[in-house]
Amino acid sequence: MINLILFGPPGSGKGTQAVKLVEKYNLVHISTGDLFRSQIAEKTDMGMKAKAFMDKGELVPDEVTIGMLKNKMLAHPEAEGFIFDGFPRTIPQAEALDIMLADSKEEIAAVLELEVSEEEIVERLLNRAKTSGRSDDANEDIIRNRFQVYLEKTAPVAKHYAKVDKAHKVNGLGSIDDIFERLVGSIDTVLAC
Ligand code: ADP
Repeated sequence: MINLILFGPPGSGKGTQAVKLVEKYNLVHISTGDLFRSQIAEKTDMGMKAKAFMDKGELVPDEVTIGMLKNKMLAHPEAEGFIFDGFPRTIPQAEALDIMLADSKEEIAAVLELEVSEEEIVERLLNRAKTSGRSDDANEDIIRNRFQVYLEKTAPVAKHYAKVDKAHKVNGLGSIDDIFERLVGSIDTVLAC
């Protein structure tokens, strides 16, 4: 199994790259943001609870997010590997994921950290709002709050994996294909070891 974490601030291109990586490496894509948005569309209790946090640019509580992720993984016993996009976003989420994988004698192969500056993020997300219809993309204060939450709660996750030499920084600027080539370069180096 190849289990990858696509890491980086909101708007760093994780979702776009995940779709391409899934195809190349035959992985199952799990985006917790997409899962929450489909719960919201279905107006489930979980969706309504998540929406209150997402609209403010805050994180959905760990127990809700971890439970949802576990269910999604259990729904794919056939998977040859997973690509986690937007998860883990906190240290408790990372610890829960590590335990879950270890229980089935699996582990994270690599954490690919897309590096993009705050100013570039604000510009990209305001632009994305024009087509995404996402209310959390339409307001600069909410975007800056999401970036702040990333620095405070999510950036430590990269350090958690750096301690075991699994974190790889990738320049997140340039064309989609250029960034994809950089990611593939990092992944193939890890897989060759
Ligand atoms: P982006 O990467 O552009 O922020 P996502 O779709 O990954 O977009 O996330 C949108 C929102 O969904 C986040 O701001 C947060 O409120 C919620 N969310 C997604 N993943 C998680 C997670 N792992 N833990 C807590 N909240 C999450």
